Amino acid sequence: MNLKLNLNTQSIRRSVIDILSSFLVIMLPCSIGFSQNHLSILVYHHVSNTTPPSTSISPEGFRSHLQFMKDNGITVVDLENAVSALQKGLDLPDKAVAITFDDGYESIYETAWPILKEFSAPFSFFISTDPINKSQQGYVTWGQIKEMHSQGVTIGNHTSDHAYLVQKTQNESTSDWKQRAQKSIKKAHADLTKQLGIAPRLFAYPYGEFSKELKEIVGGFDYIALGQHSGATGPLSDWLALPRFPMGGIYSNLETARIKFTSRALPALDIEQWSPIVDTREPTAQLTIDNINISKVGLQATSISCFLGGKEMEVKIRTNTTHTNFSIAARGKSIGRRWNYTCTAPAENNRYFWLSLPFIFLD
Ligand SMILES: [Zn+2]
Repeated sequence: MNLKLNLNTQSIRRSVIDILSSFLVIMLPCSIGFSQNHLSILVYHHVSNTTPPSTSISPEGFRSHLQFMKDNGITVVDLENAVSALQKGLDLPDKAVAITFDDGYESIYETAWPILKEFSAPFSFFISTDPINKSQQGYVTWGQIKEMHSQGVTIGNHTSDHAYLVQKTQNESTSDWKQRAQKSIKKAHADLTKQLGIAPRLFAYPYGEFSKELKEIVGGFDYIALGQHSGATGPLSDWLALPRFPMGGIYSNLETARIKFTSRALPALDIEQWSPIVDTREPTAQLTIDNINISKVGLQATSISCFLGGKEMEVKIRTNTTHTNFSIAARGKSIGRRWNYTCTAPAENNRYFWLSLPFIFLD
């Protein structure tokens, strides 16, 4: 059966937020019996009023996120334990969220940590170790990292030099590139292991950028790895490229954050093979979902909408007896180095399935 969504009548100028907000008024039947195997991982950078706005949330804004979670039955879980549970097919608390911070900024020690302690919320802190080794201004110190670690904070690897690891430098051979990437990950791994007495198990890609080849290198270190493309994590996620919702700047707004905190994973089968590197600015993406999984999670295939920069995309759906394939195409060229195709669909209890596909265009 071929189904084609006619999206032309929708105003493509509406932002993704407007469209998502409009879904909120749709009352969906309350479904009982779905597995609680969905996790929303959030990524923050600075919690401060004086750092770059695009990667910052104010202390008041950050507190309001935690208060909102507490008031709405959203549980902040330990990331490593939650991922391990999902990998084993175990359930998580309903509406599970994991909090992460990237880079190693001082406001996390000084401002975020005291608030997180107040709410008894676990979190993970991804450190680029070169700035810490150089006692660079604006970053935490090794003493502070050790103090946090000794009190239960998970410390993860964010490379030593925070380089654009998916990209070869000018005249760099493939083997030289591989060595450079390995060195940056290995150096941070060794620094963290030496300072904390235990090897880190979590890795966050600088800028959230990964490729098939980089995933192989990171996989060689036996890491669980995280990107910065939005979406929920579930049993079929790629453990070497888990999605995270960026929560800084324009993304810190609590109204839109609510949808992210409670999002559910789309059980797409192709995600593990996903490599974001493309040589065209108009890539068509393919997603496949097992029909059994579609009914298991209560997804209506025709309700999936995909967006690029707030504009609704063309989604073609093909269903056979076992699988449903979604072909997602942009109406025009993407600009910039990175972009995402973001797909959502209404789920039960005013929640949303959420998956995004990251792309990187290298010059
Ligand atoms: Zn970073």
